[in-house]
Amino acid sequence: MVGYICPRHLIQYPALGNTMPFDLPDLNYAYSDLEPHLDATTMEIHHSKHHAGYTRNLNSAIDGTNMADQDIEEILSKCADNPAVRNNGGGYWNHCFFWDSMCPPDQSLGPSGALMDAINDAFGSFEEFKSKFKAAALTRFGSGWAWLCSDSGTLTICSTPNQDNPLMETVGCGQTPILGIDVWEHAYYKKFGPGRGDYVEAWWNVVNWTKVEDRFNSTIQ
Ligand code: MN
Repeated sequence: MVGYICPRHLIQYPALGNTMPFDLPDLNYAYSDLEPHLDATTMEIHHSKHHAGYTRNLNSAIDGTNMADQDIEEILSKCADNPAVRNNGGGYWNHCFFWDSMCPPDQSLGPSGALMDAINDAFGSFEEFKSKFKAAALTRFGSGWAWLCSDSGTLTICSTPNQDNPLMETVGCGQTPILGIDVWEHAYYKKFGPGRGDYVEAWWNVVNWTKVEDRFNSTIQ
């Protein structure tokens, strides 16, 4: 299984008094850098409150277990029957992946090369891909995620509920995510209200296609 692995550091959380294995990653851009498409306040709350909470709660859930010595992807592959680890481990990984899937709009250059060929093969065109991905995001009832995944270069779209992701056993399409969008209301409600479709349309402007292409290429090597 190839995928993005969160930075893993031994850091001290004074409030918990324990040495915890997973750290909240810094963003590669400022909270305001995705403006005007995603607003700075939503980005700040999403990262510093929501993602920080998943990180803290994951660390608590695995503290003292053999999972404390495992990579996040190994943990996710075996967490089906452990709701605290599934929800917070998924929340931890999904948001690491999400931040790393975005970039300032002037750096969002669109897909090219082998990735564009694979998009055309799977969906007919880039526009048709965007339409199908948006439909997956809009039809996910309640909270969850929509994903573009690669199986050795063959692309597929799926969606998952809550903080589940396709790295979890028997969840979604089971392939390797190369792009994902958070469709929880906390990701968009402040700026877009109930307009999830408007959020998806705005989000296309900040997709880091260079990163998506790197991930895609790692699934075909
Ligand atoms: Mn979120």
